[in-house]
Amino acid sequence: MDVKSPYLHPEYETLSREEISKLQTERLRETFEHCKNVPFYAKKFKEMNLSVEDINSPEDVRKLPFTTKQDLRDTYPFGLAAVPLSECVRLHSSSGTTGNPTVILHTQRDLDEWANQVARNLWMVGLRPDDVFQNSSGYGMFTGGLGFQYGAERLGMLTVPAAAGNSLRQIKFIKDFGTTAIHAIPSYLTRLYEVMQEQGVDPRKDTKLKVFAIGAEPHSEEQRKRIENMFGVKAYNSFGMSEMCGPGVGFECKEQNGLHFWEDYYIVEIVDPDTLEPVPDGEIGELVLTSIRREAMPLIRYRTRDLTRVLGRTCPCGRNHVRLDRMKGRSDDMIVLRGVNIFPIQIEKILMKFPELGSNYLITLSTEDNNDQMTVEVEVNEGTDDFAKLQSLEKEIRHQLGDEILLKPIVRLVSKGSLPVSEGKAVRVVDKRKVYQ
Ligand code: ADP
Ligand code: ZN
Repeated sequence: MDVKSPYLHPEYETLSREEISKLQTERLRETFEHCKNVPFYAKKFKEMNLSVEDINSPEDVRKLPFTTKQDLRDTYPFGLAAVPLSECVRLHSSSGTTGNPTVILHTQRDLDEWANQVARNLWMVGLRPDDVFQNSSGYGMFTGGLGFQYGAERLGMLTVPAAAGNSLRQIKFIKDFGTTAIHAIPSYLTRLYEVMQEQGVDPRKDTKLKVFAIGAEPHSEEQRKRIENMFGVKAYNSFGMSEMCGPGVGFECKEQNGLHFWEDYYIVEIVDPDTLEPVPDGEIGELVLTSIRREAMPLIRYRTRDLTRVLGRTCPCGRNHVRLDRMKGRSDDMIVLRGVNIFPIQIEKILMKFPELGSNYLITLSTEDNNDQMTVEVEVNEGTDDFAKLQSLEKEIRHQLGDEILLKPIVRLVSKGSLPVSEGKAVRVVDKRKVYQ
């Protein structure tokens, strides 16, 4: 079953649900056999008395063991390799703030398939070889760099590895090279727009931009709309994860009605994070992915900790690959304050509704007089210097946040450019609370 076109795979993209199911069963069986080369999996299969005969449908993946980030750490660096290291051509590694970092290995075929996946996504949103693609991701270990680079090249676009930061240079490239598409972290695009404004550059008139691929961090629908309105450019949500390859795992089509997760590459499950049982379509749970087409380091039932839900399994675009809602965040991003569970994205959703507010915000958790509290600082756009108006704006934000997250934080409006900007993924929460044992 070889791929006919280097970038567009109509035969895979338009599979019917039955065909997807058949292909997944076949590839899951192959993956199961292949994973016997990994002592970690071989041992588990033996303990659980599993054989390939147990796999007769994609749902049979539920019989298999889970894999966690901790398992990746415990087997650091090469313990989960399913092929000899001599067959691997690249590794990516996460920084690992606690304990060992994690390592992901790739064979040449893995890299090839990854490039195909990214190319498929970029083609899906209308990009063609005559487009100019600028990648503002950090290169190096962060997969958003090389992942998009190879994918955009595979599609045949002129690809500009601009890398992260240096907005003035980014803008110069956009103008001089006639950039039509950019891959960026959403928080960076709002920053880039500010610099364009400072430079008197109007993206609608002075650039050829038409498509953004935005991802790598959670963002709200409101944030996306903002970005689209700022630049007059369509922004498509792109989901990636190093453990599965990197960018390319899920991407929105032109309908912008959720992320198509590519089921010829992954088996997608949404489970209750406590019971680990599947939840019905439409209900939020933890995303669990099994890579069924990877050679160097396939992962079985990998617990991503990302929270989302199934929106549908068909789409007006003609693709039947499962559609998932934008990520609500990772389970470890959840703030628990005075017994209330809050996701930063809920706060962003409200803030982005106010045209007076900028896009940069910071949530600080602190302890005052033995009480835990939340302060939301958000930048205001220029031209909002009427004190009385600012006061009533603060009040209104506090009120609307109260309705959304069920407690009223302190709201502080700060001037534009006063909150820190990170070059990579945005840091939205600072926790300074005292921990009582
Ligand atoms: P790290 O674990 O160091 O952040 P990755 O770059 O592999 O490494 O990040 C993958 C994670 O980034 C995902 O698990 C998810 O939490 C987040 N992520 C990636 N793309 C998106 C997206 N489009 N929307 C929300 N979150 C995303
Ligand atoms: Zn679609």
